Formats: sequence, C-alpha cells, structure tokens
Amino acid sequence: MKCANGEKFSQGTLIPFGNIELSPSAGILNYGQGLFEGLKAYRTENGHILLFRPEENSKRMKTGADRMCMPSPSIEQFVNAVKEIVIANKRWVPPHGKGSLYIRPLLMGTGALLGLAPAPEYTFIIYCSPVGSYHKDKGPLNFKVEDKLYRAISGTGGTGGIKSVTNYAPVYSATTEAKANGFSDVLFLDAATGKHIEEASSSNVFVVKGNAICTPAIDGTILPGITRKTIIDIATDLGYEVMERAVSVEEMLDADEVFCTGTAVVVNSVASITFQKTRTQYKTGPETLSQKLRKTLLGIQTGCIDDTKGWTVLVD
Ligand code: PMP
Repeated sequence: MKCANGEKFSQGTLIPFGNIELSPSAGILNYGQGLFEGLKAYRTENGHILLFRPEENSKRMKTGADRMCMPSPSIEQFVNAVKEIVIANKRWVPPHGKGSLYIRPLLMGTGALLGLAPAPEYTFIIYCSPVGSYHKDKGPLNFKVEDKLYRAISGTGGTGGIKSVTNYAPVYSATTEAKANGFSDVLFLDAATGKHIEEASSSNVFVVKGNAICTPAIDGTILPGITRKTIIDIATDLGYEVMERAVSVEEMLDADEVFCTGTAVVVNSVASITFQKTRTQYKTGPETLSQKLRKTLLGIQTGCIDDTKGWTVLVD
C-alpha cells in the first residue's frame, strides 16, 4: 500500500515475497522514518487460525506514525491486510503446538528527499514467516544488566515509546556482546539515572515478590507491549496485585521471580540476572507464576482456553 504525504492509504495488493525498490534518498534509509509491528497467527487444535489483538498493533503503529509525521493505515485497513496476508500464507501457519506464523507490518517513508523533512511518499508492507521459540535457549533465560548508560535503549524525549526502526540500532552492541558471552538477552536501565530497570531488547519485564507483581511504568521510554498489557489483565483477574511503577535494580535483585513478556517470547521466566559481575538466581519451573501466565496466554492465543475478553480474531 502506498500514499502521498497527507493522503490516505489506498487498497494494497498481494505480491510474492521479494526485494523492493527504494530511492537512495528515501526517508527510511537516510533519517530512519520507519515503524514496524510484530504479531503472530496461531493454529487451534481443530485447524482454525487465530490472530491476537491485531487492532492493538494498528493503534500502536498509528501512535508512532503521529510521532514521526507519517500517515498510517486505518485500523480496518491494517487488520484486513494482516488477515489477507495470513490467508494467502495459511499453509505456512505451523500445526497447533508447533510454533506460529510471525507477521511483520512495516510503515516507512519511501519518497525521495534530500533534506530532513517528512518524506513525500509512504509505503506500508506486511511480510510473514513461520517461527518457533524466540530465544535459542528456549527455557529460563539468563539476562545481563547493561550498566553503560550510553548503551541505553531509550532516553526521555526519544522514541522508546513507539516501535520505531531506529530504537533497535543503539542496542546492537550491547546485545551482540552479551550473547557472545552466553547471555540470552540484555536488560536496560533508565538512561537518566541508571537506577531503574526499563525493558529487555525485545520484551517487557516483570518482577514478582510474594503476591505482588511490578513492571516499569510506561513513560515514553519503554515500549507499551501488547503482551505486557494482556498479562497485567490476566494476572489481575487471577487475584495478583499488579503495579506499574519505577522498579529499582535493588528491588529486582531481591525479587522471587522475574519474567519477560513479548509477542516473540510470549512469557518467559528469567533464571538469572547478572549485574556488575554478580549473578542473582530466580525461581523457575512449572510452578512459577510466569509459567502459569504463559500457559494461560498461550491457551487463549491458540484457542485452548475460552477467550472471554474478545482478544482473538478468527482468520480462517
Ligand atoms: N519492548 C521492546 C523493545 C520490543 O521490541 C517489544 C516487542 N515488540 C516489546 C517490548 C514487547 O511488545 P509486544 O508485547 O507488543 O510484542
């Protein structure tokens, strides 16, 4: 789907996966005028295909587009285009329990312009791929806290609160180094003080102490994860007290359990966190809250548990 700046997107077309042509002076290439989303299609036990809260991805893309002076497809256009892609690729949706089809919508400034200004033309594309589990070490994860603040994921006033393509460039060095040293992922601190946790490179983080669950508040520097929002709802319904507020490094190190949430990771237990060379271990295993939440969420996403909130969308 394409549109000129200030106009609405017209109906798109399905084309085979392949390279796209871009002007060397496209906004996305020169100034990072681009946003993406990520969502999954799951197969139910009886072979149907479900999407999970796709309108939330569309709303998040719209928020990002407003922030980056871009037009965005309407919710209806976005959701219909996602459905169309899934139906066209339904043979790639893995069987129930064997993974999912990951769907990647991309919105970008493709019009050519030399100076720093919103691009004169925009393109919205969606591609997809079957996926298994996100982290190589499928089980409980081992995180490293990144305490060099110049390698923070986002700062106040930046674009950490939207899914801008540019957010991921600052974390390459930290995540590559951590993975080379055997860690599953990096946990970033707030860039202003370095005293509070923010999020991992592609997931939100929760800490559990007794019956209380805390997760960093959304303040413009953390991505408002759709899984995060869903897990807050599910945990609250299960009777847990869920707090969205600043979470200090000390509080995290003192927690019983830590877990992360995201479309890719679903909900995953964190087995250990290394902060300034000291490794702290956390509860893991089937009895943990994170595994209970993971089971519930995956159950809803794959149609095994009744979706009383209307979160799933039947595609086929
Ligand atoms: N934080 C970051 C930086 C992410 O890239 C993601 C993945 N989209 C998340 C959090 C989790 O968001 P969601 O639950 O919507 O996938």
